[in-house]
Amino acid sequence: MRELDTIFSPPASLAAMLDESKRAVVFTGAGMSTESGIPDFRSPGGIWTKMAPIQFQDFLASDEMRRESWRRKFAMEETFAQAEPNLGHHAVAELVRRGTVAAIITQNIDNLHQVSGIPADKVIELHGNSTYASCLDCGARHELDVIKQSFIGREVLPECQSCGGMVKTATISFGQSMPIEPMQRAEEETLACDLFIVIGSSLVVHPAASFPLIAKRNGARLVILNREPTPLDDHADLVLHEEIGPILSTMVPVT
Ligand code: NAD
Ligand code: ZN
Repeated sequence: MRELDTIFSPPASLAAMLDESKRAVVFTGAGMSTESGIPDFRSPGGIWTKMAPIQFQDFLASDEMRRESWRRKFAMEETFAQAEPNLGHHAVAELVRRGTVAAIITQNIDNLHQVSGIPADKVIELHGNSTYASCLDCGARHELDVIKQSFIGREVLPECQSCGGMVKTATISFGQSMPIEPMQRAEEETLACDLFIVIGSSLVVHPAASFPLIAKRNGARLVILNREPTPLDDHADLVLHEEIGPILSTMVPVT
């Protein structure tokens, strides 16, 4: 049945669910930003087909790993800096403006939901933000352009001016603890919503990928919009194996 639904009337079904919802949550992954030119991790040609991620323990353990991490960061920077919100981001921002969507829970670190006009306090970042850095000891914020000036050429590793601690992009690496406050807020929003919409996530990275099931078990409707199947497709009320921008912009014209 789901297959037929998907083929014949996907926009109508999601549109109807949005109309009926009193409080929706959008949960996004790297697929949300591929149409902005930022590669995802697991699609063919994605970042992981090129290089393995640096584990948090390895970052802590050696200067060379820290240098490698900053080299990768600055090599990727141009792609991130040029990226702008795409049709999908704008449609999601419109749903927030209309009051249909109460919060965005994102695994993305690219800041594009905020750039699309969604107030920062409605964007819950589970994996941090790559547009700045922070001290691992005291949490002080550090700006990337300052770090870049010393790093490019001389490869000087950044050090916190306040406490001397290690500075790392403000993202959560594999092996690093999940941020407490965003995880709590994500759980609260997940339990408060009646419609949970996954957009562009392979739903294999845990604990982030547990939120759709928490929502479903709590009685919310679950929608998954992703080009490829995910492990949670069987739990969803509606599955759309579609391209994000085209389908969302048709369904939610930005006024
Ligand atoms: P993922 O790479 O595991 O999965 C992305 C999914 O999106 C894939 O299943 C792919 O088929 C789908 N997809 C890609 N483009 C699409 C499109 N235009 N339309 C429909 N579907 C599309 O990403 P994930 O689930 O977010 O997990 C990877 C981790 O990588 C996350 O933890 C995230 O922190 C990080 N990451 C973030 C960014 C970013 O900030 N933009 C980019 C790469 C990775
Ligand atoms: Zn510090």
